[in-house]
Amino acid sequence: MIIPFNQPFLTGKETQYIEQAVKSNKISGDGLFTKKCHQFFEQKYGFRKVLLTTSCTDALEMAAILLNIKEGDEVIAPSYSFVSTVNAFVLRGAKIVFADSETSTPNIDVTKLEALITPKTKAIVPIHYAGIACDMDAIMDIANRHSLFVVEDAAQAIDSYYKGKPLGSIGHLAAFSFHETKNIISGEGGMLVINDEQFVKRAEIIREKGTNRSAFFRGEVDKYNWVDIGSSFLPSDIIAAFLFAQIENIETIQDRRKQSWNAYLKGLLPLQDAGNIRLPFIPDYATNNAHIFYIVCNDVKNRIGLIDHLKKQDINAVFHYLSLHNSPFYKDKHDGRKLPNSDHYTDCLIRLPMYFELTTEEINTVINGINSFFQS
Ligand SMILES: *Cc1c(COP(=O)(O)O)cnc(C)c1O
Repeated sequence: MIIPFNQPFLTGKETQYIEQAVKSNKISGDGLFTKKCHQFFEQKYGFRKVLLTTSCTDALEMAAILLNIKEGDEVIAPSYSFVSTVNAFVLRGAKIVFADSETSTPNIDVTKLEALITPKTKAIVPIHYAGIACDMDAIMDIANRHSLFVVEDAAQAIDSYYKGKPLGSIGHLAAFSFHETKNIISGEGGMLVINDEQFVKRAEIIREKGTNRSAFFRGEVDKYNWVDIGSSFLPSDIIAAFLFAQIENIETIQDRRKQSWNAYLKGLLPLQDAGNIRLPFIPDYATNNAHIFYIVCNDVKNRIGLIDHLKKQDINAVFHYLSLHNSPFYKDKHDGRKLPNSDHYTDCLIRLPMYFELTTEEINTVINGINSFFQS
Protein backbone atom coordinates (compact mmCIF):
# COMPACT_ATOMS: atom_id res chain seq x y z
CA MET A 1 0.00 0.00 0.00
CA ILE A 2 1.32 3.38 -1.03
CA ILE A 3 1.39 6.09 1.64
CA PRO A 4 0.44 9.24 -0.29
CA PHE A 5 1.75 12.67 0.58
CA ASN A 6 -1.74 14.13 0.86
CA GLN A 7 -5.26 12.75 0.83
CA PRO A 8 -8.29 15.06 0.94
CA PHE A 9 -10.54 14.39 3.91
CA LEU A 10 -14.34 14.50 3.65
CA THR A 11 -16.32 14.96 6.83
CA GLY A 12 -19.45 13.33 5.34
CA LYS A 13 -21.77 16.33 5.13
CA GLU A 14 -20.21 17.95 2.04
CA THR A 15 -22.57 16.41 -0.54
CA GLN A 16 -25.61 16.92 1.71
CA TYR A 17 -24.89 20.65 1.99
CA ILE A 18 -24.18 20.89 -1.73
CA GLU A 19 -27.57 19.29 -2.41
CA GLN A 20 -29.18 21.79 -0.05
CA ALA A 21 -27.47 24.65 -1.90
CA VAL A 22 -28.63 23.28 -5.25
CA LYS A 23 -32.22 22.88 -4.05
CA SER A 24 -32.28 26.44 -2.69
CA ASN A 25 -32.14 27.68 -6.30
CA LYS A 26 -29.35 30.10 -5.45
CA ILE A 27 -26.01 28.61 -6.41
CA SER A 28 -24.10 31.68 -7.57
CA GLY A 29 -21.94 33.59 -5.10
CA ASP A 30 -22.92 35.00 -1.70
CA GLY A 31 -25.75 32.52 -1.08
CA LEU A 32 -26.76 30.96 2.23
CA PHE A 33 -23.60 28.89 2.74
CA THR A 34 -21.24 31.72 1.85
CA LYS A 35 -22.96 33.81 4.54
CA LYS A 36 -22.64 30.95 7.04
CA CYS A 37 -18.91 30.63 6.30
CA HIS A 38 -18.38 34.40 6.60
CA GLN A 39 -20.15 34.44 9.95
CA PHE A 40 -18.20 31.48 11.24
CA PHE A 41 -14.78 32.96 10.46
CA GLU A 42 -15.66 36.45 11.70
CA GLN A 43 -17.02 35.10 15.00
CA LYS A 44 -14.44 32.40 15.70
CA TYR A 45 -11.35 34.45 14.87
CA GLY A 46 -12.58 38.01 15.36
CA PHE A 47 -11.65 39.00 11.80
CA ARG A 48 -13.06 42.47 11.02
CA LYS A 49 -14.49 41.26 7.68
CA VAL A 50 -14.02 38.16 5.53
CA LEU A 51 -14.90 37.45 1.91
CA LEU A 52 -14.70 34.00 0.38
CA THR A 53 -12.77 33.91 -2.89
CA THR A 54 -12.16 31.21 -5.46
CA SER A 55 -8.57 30.78 -4.23
CA CYS A 56 -5.92 32.26 -2.00
CA THR A 57 -4.26 33.47 -5.19
CA ASP A 58 -7.40 35.51 -5.92
CA ALA A 59 -7.44 36.89 -2.37
CA LEU A 60 -3.83 38.03 -2.83
CA GLU A 61 -4.71 39.64 -6.18
CA MET A 62 -7.55 41.49 -4.46
CA ALA A 63 -5.08 42.65 -1.80
CA ALA A 64 -2.74 44.02 -4.47
CA ILE A 65 -5.63 45.97 -6.06
CA LEU A 66 -6.81 47.25 -2.66
CA LEU A 67 -3.33 48.57 -1.85
CA ASN A 68 -3.25 50.37 -5.22
CA ILE A 69 0.00 48.64 -6.13
CA LYS A 70 1.31 50.21 -9.33
CA GLU A 71 4.29 50.14 -11.69
CA GLY A 72 7.50 50.80 -9.78
CA ASP A 73 6.20 50.03 -6.27
CA GLU A 74 8.28 47.61 -4.23
CA VAL A 75 6.91 44.72 -2.22
CA ILE A 76 9.02 42.74 0.25
CA ALA A 77 8.33 39.00 0.48
CA PRO A 78 10.29 35.86 1.35
CA SER A 79 11.93 34.05 -1.54
CA TYR A 80 11.01 30.73 0.06
CA SER A 81 7.31 30.86 -0.80
CA PHE A 82 4.66 29.94 -3.31
CA VAL A 83 4.51 31.80 -6.63
CA SER A 84 1.11 33.38 -5.87
CA THR A 85 2.48 35.26 -2.85
CA VAL A 86 4.37 37.57 -5.16
CA ASN A 87 2.80 37.01 -8.59
CA ALA A 88 -0.34 38.81 -7.38
CA PHE A 89 1.74 41.97 -6.87
CA VAL A 90 3.79 41.53 -10.05
CA LEU A 91 0.50 41.54 -12.00
CA ARG A 92 -0.04 45.11 -10.77
CA GLY A 93 3.48 46.16 -11.79
CA ALA A 94 5.35 45.75 -8.51
CA LYS A 95 9.01 44.91 -8.17
CA ILE A 96 9.59 42.16 -5.62
CA VAL A 97 12.40 42.63 -3.13
CA PHE A 98 13.08 39.14 -1.85
CA ALA A 99 13.94 38.52 1.79
CA ASP A 100 15.79 35.57 3.23
CA SER A 101 14.37 32.98 5.64
CA GLU A 102 15.40 32.61 9.26
CA THR A 103 17.99 29.99 10.12
CA SER A 104 15.61 28.40 12.61
CA THR A 105 12.44 28.38 10.43
CA PRO A 106 11.61 28.98 6.74
CA ASN A 107 9.77 32.18 7.77
CA ILE A 108 10.95 35.66 6.77
CA ASP A 109 13.99 36.86 8.76
CA VAL A 110 12.70 40.04 10.45
CA THR A 111 16.18 41.12 11.55
CA LYS A 112 17.12 41.72 7.90
CA LEU A 113 13.82 43.29 6.85
CA GLU A 114 14.38 46.96 7.58
CA ALA A 115 17.48 47.14 5.37
CA LEU A 116 15.31 46.22 2.36
CA ILE A 117 12.97 49.20 2.69
CA THR A 118 13.30 52.07 0.20
CA PRO A 119 11.07 55.11 -0.51
CA LYS A 120 9.31 52.91 -3.10
CA THR A 121 8.34 50.14 -0.66
CA LYS A 122 4.56 49.77 -0.32
CA ALA A 123 3.98 46.46 1.45
CA ILE A 124 5.45 43.49 3.30
CA VAL A 125 3.96 40.06 2.58
CA PRO A 126 5.09 37.52 5.18
CA ILE A 127 3.98 33.90 4.91
CA HIS A 128 3.39 31.73 7.95
CA TYR A 129 5.22 28.66 6.70
CA ALA A 130 3.66 25.37 7.81
CA GLY A 131 1.10 27.43 9.72
CA ILE A 132 3.76 28.56 12.21
CA ALA A 133 3.65 32.31 12.86
CA CYS A 134 6.20 34.83 11.66
CA ASP A 135 7.35 37.33 14.29
CA MET A 136 4.38 39.61 13.68
CA ASP A 137 5.14 42.21 16.39
CA ALA A 138 8.49 42.90 14.73
CA ILE A 139 6.92 43.03 11.26
CA MET A 140 4.05 45.33 12.32
CA ASP A 141 6.46 47.59 14.18
CA ILE A 142 8.68 48.01 11.09
CA ALA A 143 5.59 48.49 8.88
CA ASN A 144 4.12 51.14 11.16
CA ARG A 145 7.35 53.05 11.44
CA HIS A 146 7.69 53.19 7.63
CA SER A 147 3.95 53.51 6.82
CA LEU A 148 3.82 50.19 4.95
CA PHE A 149 0.95 47.77 4.59
CA VAL A 150 1.20 44.16 5.74
CA VAL A 151 -0.59 41.37 3.89
CA GLU A 152 -0.34 38.06 5.72
CA ASP A 153 -0.12 35.10 3.35
CA ALA A 154 -1.98 32.86 5.79
CA ALA A 155 -2.70 30.19 3.15
CA GLN A 156 -1.39 27.48 5.49
CA ALA A 157 -2.27 29.15 8.76
CA ILE A 158 -5.91 28.39 9.55
CA ASP A 159 -6.55 28.09 13.29
CA SER A 160 -3.02 29.02 14.29
CA TYR A 161 -1.94 31.81 16.62
CA TYR A 162 0.72 34.40 17.40
CA LYS A 163 0.85 35.40 21.09
CA GLY A 164 -2.79 34.36 21.37
CA LYS A 165 -3.93 36.30 18.30
CA PRO A 166 -5.30 34.30 15.35
CA LEU A 167 -3.05 34.42 12.30
CA GLY A 168 -4.77 36.47 9.64
CA SER A 169 -6.03 38.99 12.21
CA ILE A 170 -2.81 40.98 12.55
CA GLY A 171 -1.90 42.42 9.12
CA HIS A 172 -4.01 45.04 7.33
CA LEU A 173 -5.13 42.21 5.05
CA ALA A 174 -4.69 38.44 5.01
CA ALA A 175 -5.28 35.62 2.54
CA PHE A 176 -6.23 32.01 3.31
CA SER A 177 -6.41 28.93 1.07
CA PHE A 178 -8.86 26.04 1.07
CA HIS A 179 -7.05 24.14 -1.67
CA GLU A 180 -7.34 20.39 -1.20
CA THR A 181 -3.79 20.19 0.18
CA LYS A 182 -4.60 22.48 3.13
CA ASN A 183 -6.12 21.57 6.53
CA ILE A 184 -9.63 22.84 5.72
CA ILE A 185 -10.59 22.37 2.08
CA SER A 186 -13.10 23.02 -0.67
CA GLY A 187 -11.15 21.68 -3.65
CA GLU A 188 -10.10 25.12 -4.79
CA GLY A 189 -11.05 28.03 -2.57
CA GLY A 190 -9.80 30.91 -0.50
CA MET A 191 -10.65 33.87 1.66
CA LEU A 192 -9.63 37.49 2.00
CA VAL A 193 -9.57 38.91 5.52
CA ILE A 194 -9.88 42.67 5.87
CA ASN A 195 -8.73 43.96 9.25
CA ASP A 196 -8.29 47.59 8.23
CA GLU A 197 -11.67 49.34 8.01
CA GLN A 198 -10.59 51.58 5.10
CA PHE A 199 -10.57 48.56 2.75
CA VAL A 200 -13.92 46.96 3.65
CA LYS A 201 -16.23 48.73 1.17
CA ARG A 202 -13.86 48.63 -1.77
CA ALA A 203 -13.06 44.94 -1.24
CA GLU A 204 -16.73 44.04 -1.86
CA ILE A 205 -16.71 46.07 -5.07
CA ILE A 206 -13.47 44.60 -6.42
CA ARG A 207 -14.79 41.09 -5.74
CA GLU A 208 -18.00 41.83 -7.69
CA LYS A 209 -16.42 42.86 -11.02
CA GLY A 210 -15.97 46.47 -9.93
CA THR A 211 -19.68 46.96 -9.23
CA ASN A 212 -21.59 47.92 -6.11
CA ARG A 213 -23.81 44.85 -6.47
CA SER A 214 -23.30 43.79 -2.82
CA ALA A 215 -24.64 47.15 -1.58
CA PHE A 216 -27.54 46.80 -4.09
CA PHE A 217 -28.50 43.37 -2.69
CA ARG A 218 -28.53 44.86 0.80
CA GLY A 219 -30.88 47.58 -0.46
CA GLU A 220 -28.35 50.37 0.14
CA VAL A 221 -28.45 51.63 -3.47
CA ASP A 222 -31.37 51.40 -5.95
CA LYS A 223 -29.30 50.15 -8.92
CA TYR A 224 -25.87 48.72 -9.24
CA ASN A 225 -23.23 50.31 -11.37
CA TRP A 226 -19.64 50.08 -12.51
CA VAL A 227 -17.76 52.02 -9.82
CA ASP A 228 -14.16 50.70 -9.78
CA ILE A 229 -11.86 48.06 -11.28
CA GLY A 230 -12.47 44.49 -10.21
CA SER A 231 -12.94 40.93 -11.32
CA SER A 232 -15.00 37.85 -10.53
CA PHE A 233 -13.39 36.70 -7.30
CA LEU A 234 -16.39 35.17 -5.51
CA PRO A 235 -16.98 31.41 -5.41
CA SER A 236 -20.24 29.65 -6.18
CA ASP A 237 -22.34 28.76 -3.13
CA ILE A 238 -21.70 25.08 -4.02
CA ILE A 239 -18.06 25.60 -2.99
CA ALA A 240 -19.15 27.39 0.19
CA ALA A 241 -21.51 24.48 1.02
CA PHE A 242 -18.57 22.07 0.82
CA LEU A 243 -16.45 24.40 2.93
CA PHE A 244 -19.12 24.77 5.61
CA ALA A 245 -19.15 21.00 6.17
CA GLN A 246 -15.40 21.22 6.75
CA ILE A 247 -15.39 24.14 9.17
CA GLU A 248 -18.11 22.57 11.29
CA ASN A 249 -15.48 19.89 11.99
CA ILE A 250 -12.49 22.14 12.39
CA GLU A 251 -11.72 21.05 15.99
CA THR A 252 -11.73 17.35 15.08
CA ILE A 253 -9.59 17.95 12.02
CA GLN A 254 -7.01 20.04 13.87
CA ASP A 255 -6.82 17.64 16.87
CA ARG A 256 -6.19 14.62 14.72
CA ARG A 257 -3.55 16.35 12.59
CA LYS A 258 -1.75 17.56 15.73
CA GLN A 259 -1.68 14.00 17.10
CA SER A 260 -0.03 12.77 13.89
CA TRP A 261 2.39 15.69 13.93
CA ASN A 262 3.42 14.97 17.53
CA ALA A 263 3.88 11.28 16.75
CA TYR A 264 6.33 12.20 13.96
CA LEU A 265 8.16 14.57 16.30
CA LYS A 266 8.55 11.97 19.04
CA GLY A 267 9.67 9.26 16.62
CA LEU A 268 12.23 11.44 14.85
CA LEU A 269 13.83 13.20 17.83
CA PRO A 270 16.67 10.62 18.11
CA LEU A 271 17.69 11.39 14.51
CA GLN A 272 17.84 15.10 15.33
CA ASP A 273 19.90 14.36 18.46
CA ALA A 274 22.29 12.31 16.31
CA GLY A 275 22.70 15.30 13.96
CA ASN A 276 21.19 13.57 10.92
CA ILE A 277 18.21 15.88 10.43
CA ARG A 278 16.68 19.07 11.81
CA LEU A 279 13.05 19.06 13.00
CA PRO A 280 10.56 21.96 12.88
CA PHE A 281 11.24 24.73 15.39
CA ILE A 282 8.23 26.41 16.98
CA PRO A 283 9.05 29.79 18.55
CA ASP A 284 7.49 30.62 21.96
CA TYR A 285 5.15 33.13 20.32
CA ALA A 286 3.71 30.61 17.85
CA THR A 287 1.29 27.69 17.92
CA ASN A 288 1.39 24.70 15.62
CA ASN A 289 -1.63 23.92 13.41
CA ALA A 290 -0.03 20.75 12.03
CA HIS A 291 -0.33 21.81 8.43
CA ILE A 292 3.05 20.41 7.38
CA PHE A 293 5.51 18.09 9.07
CA TYR A 294 8.88 18.86 7.54
CA ILE A 295 12.42 17.74 8.21
CA VAL A 296 15.58 19.49 7.04
CA CYS A 297 18.46 17.30 5.81
CA ASN A 298 22.06 18.41 6.14
CA ASP A 299 22.65 18.64 2.40
CA VAL A 300 20.99 18.16 -0.97
CA LYS A 301 22.60 14.72 -1.49
CA ASN A 302 20.96 13.38 1.66
CA ARG A 303 17.66 14.98 0.67
CA ILE A 304 17.57 13.36 -2.77
CA GLY A 305 18.74 10.04 -1.33
CA LEU A 306 16.13 10.04 1.42
CA ILE A 307 13.21 10.89 -0.92
CA ASP A 308 14.36 8.06 -3.24
CA HIS A 309 14.79 5.63 -0.36
CA LEU A 310 11.24 6.36 0.90
CA LYS A 311 9.78 6.14 -2.62
CA LYS A 312 11.17 2.59 -2.92
CA GLN A 313 9.10 1.75 0.16
CA ASP A 314 5.98 3.33 -1.37
CA ILE A 315 6.20 6.40 0.87
CA ASN A 316 5.60 9.70 -0.87
CA ALA A 317 7.65 12.39 0.83
CA VAL A 318 8.21 15.56 -1.18
CA PHE A 319 10.41 18.62 -1.32
CA HIS A 320 8.79 22.06 -1.32
CA TYR A 321 9.45 25.56 -2.67
CA LEU A 322 12.22 26.51 -5.07
CA SER A 323 13.66 29.94 -4.12
CA LEU A 324 11.69 32.47 -6.17
CA HIS A 325 14.68 34.81 -6.60
CA ASN A 326 16.35 32.04 -8.66
CA SER A 327 13.23 31.20 -10.70
CA PRO A 328 13.35 31.34 -14.53
CA PHE A 329 10.85 34.22 -14.42
CA TYR A 330 12.55 36.36 -11.78
CA LYS A 331 16.28 35.60 -11.70
CA ASP A 332 17.13 38.42 -14.13
CA LYS A 333 14.90 40.86 -12.23
CA HIS A 334 16.34 40.01 -8.80
CA ASP A 335 18.97 42.42 -7.48
CA GLY A 336 21.59 39.71 -7.09
CA ARG A 337 21.65 39.45 -3.28
CA LYS A 338 22.39 35.93 -2.06
CA LEU A 339 19.67 34.38 0.12
CA PRO A 340 21.45 31.37 1.62
CA ASN A 341 18.76 30.23 4.06
CA SER A 342 16.09 30.22 1.36
CA ASP A 343 18.39 28.16 -0.85
CA HIS A 344 19.13 25.81 2.04
CA TYR A 345 15.41 25.06 2.53
CA THR A 346 15.04 24.73 -1.26
CA ASP A 347 17.76 22.05 -1.27
CA CYS A 348 17.26 20.29 2.03
CA LEU A 349 13.63 20.40 3.21
CA ILE A 350 11.33 17.36 2.92
CA ARG A 351 7.63 17.23 3.77
CA LEU A 352 6.37 13.94 5.18
CA PRO A 353 2.92 12.46 4.44
CA MET A 354 0.36 14.45 6.41
CA TYR A 355 -3.41 14.12 6.17
CA PHE A 356 -6.39 13.58 8.44
CA GLU A 357 -6.69 9.83 7.96
CA LEU A 358 -2.99 9.06 8.40
CA THR A 359 -2.78 6.06 10.78
CA THR A 360 -0.33 5.36 13.60
CA GLU A 361 0.88 2.38 11.61
CA GLU A 362 1.60 4.55 8.56
CA ILE A 363 3.43 7.10 10.71
CA ASN A 364 5.59 4.30 12.13
CA THR A 365 6.31 3.01 8.61
CA VAL A 366 7.51 6.49 7.61
CA ILE A 367 9.66 6.86 10.75
CA ASN A 368 11.18 3.40 10.21
CA GLY A 369 11.84 4.26 6.56
CA ILE A 370 13.75 7.39 7.57
CA ASN A 371 15.68 5.51 10.26
CA SER A 372 16.72 2.77 7.84
CA PHE A 373 18.09 5.42 5.43
CA PHE A 374 20.42 6.84 8.07
CA GLN A 375 21.47 3.37 9.30
CA SER A 376 22.60 2.30 5.82
C1 LIG B 1 -1.42 27.09 -1.07
C2 LIG B 1 -0.73 28.40 -1.02
C3 LIG B 1 -1.10 29.47 -1.82
C4 LIG B 1 -2.11 29.36 -2.95
O1 LIG B 1 -3.36 28.97 -2.56
P1 LIG B 1 -4.48 28.73 -3.69
O2 LIG B 1 -5.74 28.66 -2.90
O3 LIG B 1 -4.12 27.44 -4.37
O4 LIG B 1 -4.47 29.88 -4.62
C5 LIG B 1 -0.48 30.70 -1.64
N1 LIG B 1 0.48 30.87 -0.72
C6 LIG B 1 0.88 29.86 0.06
C7 LIG B 1 1.94 30.11 1.09
C8 LIG B 1 0.31 28.59 -0.06
O5 LIG B 1 0.73 27.59 0.72
